[in-house]
Amino acid sequence: MDDPIARSPAIVLDFEPAFTSSRRVTWFTRHYGRVVTLIRGSQRPKSFFLAQYDLFYTCDLLFYRRGVPGSRPARECAALKRRDRFRRDWRACAVASCVSDLVCQVAPLEAPEPRLYRLLEQTYDHLDREGADTPVLYRFELSLLRLTGHAPRLTSCSACGAALDLERPRIALSCRHGGALCDRCAAAESGGIEHLDQAAFQWLLRLCRGRAAQVPDLPADRRLARVVGRFLTYHLGVCPHSRIAALRILDYGRSGYRCS
Ligand SMILES: [Zn+2]
Repeated sequence: MDDPIARSPAIVLDFEPAFTSSRRVTWFTRHYGRVVTLIRGSQRPKSFFLAQYDLFYTCDLLFYRRGVPGSRPARECAALKRRDRFRRDWRACAVASCVSDLVCQVAPLEAPEPRLYRLLEQTYDHLDREGADTPVLYRFELSLLRLTGHAPRLTSCSACGAALDLERPRIALSCRHGGALCDRCAAAESGGIEHLDQAAFQWLLRLCRGRAAQVPDLPADRRLARVVGRFLTYHLGVCPHSRIAALRILDYGRSGYRCS
């Protein structure tokens, strides 16, 4: 018979009040994927859960399998990693919030996805250690596209399969076709094409391969933000509000700051 209690390392993605002193907490667990638990009396002064979980913590979570997906009763949890940087570095907090929101939107309830758990943990650890910049966010987003089978195809034409000259000064990308296009296929499209110059395209290639890559310049950064955002919306259907907020916060204070 299945054990009535499940146990897993779990990252706190979100929580909300439930009833007077309880909370509904959304976790991403290593063994069970996205799990929502109800923590009764979580906010009472003597609760065992006090200070044991908060946004972006990794915890040792025990929950009951009874109940329904979306409201499993929590049994106990203990903080394993707190990631204190997110309480004082609002840029890192904004990117971590965007990452959490994307995972909440993409991951179905209680479907194990250990590769996504590992990606989430590595991204939070990186943000906690190094702080936030746009390449961290793009690398996470491109990895999310890869894990869901939507990685942009960049080395051959995504419409006709022809080999691409990767040294061209301008390269066309199409969300509908899922990647770069040769000149002939790009000319046949009636719309929905984004163009990247050579520097921005090489940057995208490096990020897709999971390599660390510095921002080449601000215009390239903004073009890439648009391209990656369009791929996310088109292929994963995510609502981009938290991403827009995170990019604005990262932009704040840089030269050429955009206020719209
Ligand atoms: Zn083609």
